Amino acid sequence: MPELPEVETVRRGLEPVMEGARFTAVEARRRDLRWPLPKDFAARLQGQTVTGLGRRAKYLLADLSSGEVLLMHLGMSGSFRVFRDGGERKPGQYYHERAQHLAHDHVVFHMSSGAHVTFNDPRRFGSMKLVRRDKLEDEPLLRALGPEPLGNEFDAAMLARSCRGKKTSLKAALSDQRIVAGLGNIYVCEALHRALLSPKRRASTIASRTGAPNERAERLVDAIKAVLQDAIRAGGSSLRDHKQTNGELGLFQHNFRVYDREGQPCVTPGCSGTVKRIVQNGRSTFFCPVCQK
Ligand SMILES: [Zn+2]
Repeated sequence: MPELPEVETVRRGLEPVMEGARFTAVEARRRDLRWPLPKDFAARLQGQTVTGLGRRAKYLLADLSSGEVLLMHLGMSGSFRVFRDGGERKPGQYYHERAQHLAHDHVVFHMSSGAHVTFNDPRRFGSMKLVRRDKLEDEPLLRALGPEPLGNEFDAAMLARSCRGKKTSLKAALSDQRIVAGLGNIYVCEALHRALLSPKRRASTIASRTGAPNERAERLVDAIKAVLQDAIRAGGSSLRDHKQTNGELGLFQHNFRVYDREGQPCVTPGCSGTVKRIVQNGRSTFFCPVCQK
């Protein structure tokens, strides 16, 4: 499943061809993705200009000149391809990549920028929704989301307040979208390793009894921001290498320190540990039992 850095990479890939451009035609080849497409979907987009392309957690938000916002989620297997100037490229590379059969090209945006933007989604857990901009705050999909991890408001004090008294593990707390939005299995494992904190540690132990942050909370927030920024940078650099690919996937240079590295040596300087895999809440957790305390 794409996580926040992949979605941000996709946003940066779509921005130059969608922002400021008008939908000249929209093809909706099915009536539904995860949910039915909005009523009169193509007609409501056609002729509208994208005034801005933003992101909230793992949602892409295209502001339209009509006053509506097109909310797009990639789900488990959704991806976009951009066709322009006789070449095709795919913004965002995911670790768990899936084949893209043309049969799964469900929505195509023809933009006045000359680009065709195709949404492909084999498993159809992705979604598209149209919401009025002035009703966005009431949107159920967004309302329950916690702070953006890269936003200024997300800091040690805020994370500690949310974890105060929590008996769940740190892994579970960071995976909870109400505590911090957009983190998934991969980057939670990576952030905990960078912060040298065990995924099994009780979430409450990063806060004092009154909810004040301790040094662990500071380390954890720094690690979360750093790992996301590094991943976005890596995604951005992979884009430059894939300018004129014809849908073929290049190899995205992942630099995971623990994720999917079971049995391999820990990369923390001076640590002689071996990366271990355990299962927490039905998901694999990768960590080093020696340096992550
Ligand atoms: Zn280690």
